Amino acid sequence: MTTDNRAETKLAATDKVSNPKVTKAVIKAHGLVLKKSLGQNFLTDQNILHHIVSAAELDASKGALEIGPGIGALTQHLAEAAGAVVAVEIDQRLIPILSDTMAPYPNANVVHGDVLKTNLRDLWDRYFTECSAVSVVANLPYYVTTPIIMKLLEEKLPLENIVVMIQREVAERMSAKPGTKAYGSLSIAVQYYCVPEIVKIVPPTVFVPPPNVESAVIRLRLRDKPPVETDDEGYLFEVIQACFVQRRKTISNNLLAFCGKDRRTGVEAALAAAGIDPSRRGETLSLEEFARLSRALAEANRSS
Ligand code: SAM
Repeated sequence: MTTDNRAETKLAATDKVSNPKVTKAVIKAHGLVLKKSLGQNFLTDQNILHHIVSAAELDASKGALEIGPGIGALTQHLAEAAGAVVAVEIDQRLIPILSDTMAPYPNANVVHGDVLKTNLRDLWDRYFTECSAVSVVANLPYYVTTPIIMKLLEEKLPLENIVVMIQREVAERMSAKPGTKAYGSLSIAVQYYCVPEIVKIVPPTVFVPPPNVESAVIRLRLRDKPPVETDDEGYLFEVIQACFVQRRKTISNNLLAFCGKDRRTGVEAALAAAGIDPSRRGETLSLEEFARLSRALAEANRSS
């Protein structure tokens, strides 16, 4: 806050934004009306913030990229733990507030923009060249969780960890094992790039305003290389998507819809070559089995 706002709200310069009283005072002092459409639920629990920051394994040699800093609750903690912090915020109204709340932290940089349209590699070149490793650490806007995570993974950014607060149900899908209800194409895509671990389940009460769902902090530790081999990553993911188009259908029926009914012989041969029972459902297949299947289908396509 500016000196005037601090005086108006009787807050000390050292007060942390994440203190619930400070959050409410900052919101009031700036006459800010929070936007539900931008997922603006601000964190006001120091304990949860410590869990998030410690899961990211930061130190002074490392960088942190935050998506959606809000008024700076997590950003302040990140700036104390990391050497360089970059925070990308879409809401123009929050930029002047962040320049107040982050004023005591010269290693923090706020960038105005939509993270989905931001060239993230440019941020690396601009802010993280000196860092030994960089992690994404954020309390994400829930309405765009999956597009943000997929952008981070598909762009193959040099990340150590992604530690994010997300909707509990989405965290459970990301970390689900084959044969469970939560397992699907999101679980497989995330687990292809990362090792997921749910760090903490978080109740709605720690946010201002409280969201109407439970949340979870999840850590996605980036793998050095994928756990399966594939010549064609794009085709592997097409096959995976196809096998989940109709969850209750057998893998054979989903593949026939994907490849075309006239390709029955090739589909059957590929399933046999991959050692997969055609009557199984996609939700029972491991990533290793999907990799074998996509290689066998590609081979069947070549020889037809
Ligand atoms: N980090 C703060 C905290 O923990 O209190 C705020 C988190 S709040 C759940 C999500 C934040 O993401 C909001 O500040 C919102 O304006 C911002 N946001 C929403 N969509 C965004 C986007 N596409 N790109 C960047 N920021 C976004």
